[in-house]
Amino acid sequence: MFSSSVRTQAHSLPQNLLLASLPADAFARIAPHLTPVDLHAGDVLAEAGGAVKHVYFPQSGVISLVVEMAAGQNVETAMIGRDGVLNAGAALDGKVSLSRAVVRFSGVAMAIASDKLIEAAAGSDDLRSLLLRHEQVLLAEAQQAAACNASHRTGPRLCKWLLRMRDIAGNDNLMVTQDDLAEMIGVTRPSVTIAANELQKAGCIGYRRGVVQIFDAAGLKARGCECYGIVQGHRTAMLGPHAPVAGPPAVAVSGRSRRH
Ligand SMILES: [Zn+2]
Repeated sequence: MFSSSVRTQAHSLPQNLLLASLPADAFARIAPHLTPVDLHAGDVLAEAGGAVKHVYFPQSGVISLVVEMAAGQNVETAMIGRDGVLNAGAALDGKVSLSRAVVRFSGVAMAIASDKLIEAAAGSDDLRSLLLRHEQVLLAEAQQAAACNASHRTGPRLCKWLLRMRDIAGNDNLMVTQDDLAEMIGVTRPSVTIAANELQKAGCIGYRRGVVQIFDAAGLKARGCECYGIVQGHRTAMLGPHAPVAGPPAVAVSGRSRRH
């Protein structure tokens, strides 16, 4: 059983960009085993140290990889959206997840049982290579996040986060509260409010009723830390120019996150 409910209508939704980048023969190996599932904000798709049974290719929505601290705080290390996949590395190794994975914003994914993915990857160098390269990007993102959290101020980190969310959503309108922002960036709500107000005054974003509207992505890049560009460079080098994709509205990132 999948941990999220099975969907019956997902054909009109945007594709996962990793799946879309596979050669036809590689995609044909896993296509029969893919099942559309809903991702609900707050769903836990993997636990640190837990066995991995399913692998998820999001089409929309956002999954956060988090480290849970003793005090109960979840610190985000990476985000997985339509340009990524959850649990692939752990599935291929036949081992356990090293991270907790929580659906941050609701969406839809194509899911495949781990044993089916192992079978498909065993017969396709293209598929195995793509999944392993994606794991390297995730590791690079987590390493960069650790350095960023230790070195960079809230304002530049907020810019980085907004740019990454824009890439995943393919949309300039992000339905996200300041509480969401504070938790994902790992700072207090007042700190986020100050940083967001500065970006608003600079004309980079607008914020109203739980929606952040990005007016000036170039301005966010100029004000952000170097971490966004570094990770995107890794992603493009390892996965190809198809990722990231930001631009015309595709699917609004929406859904209220829940604390775990
Ligand atoms: Zn940074």
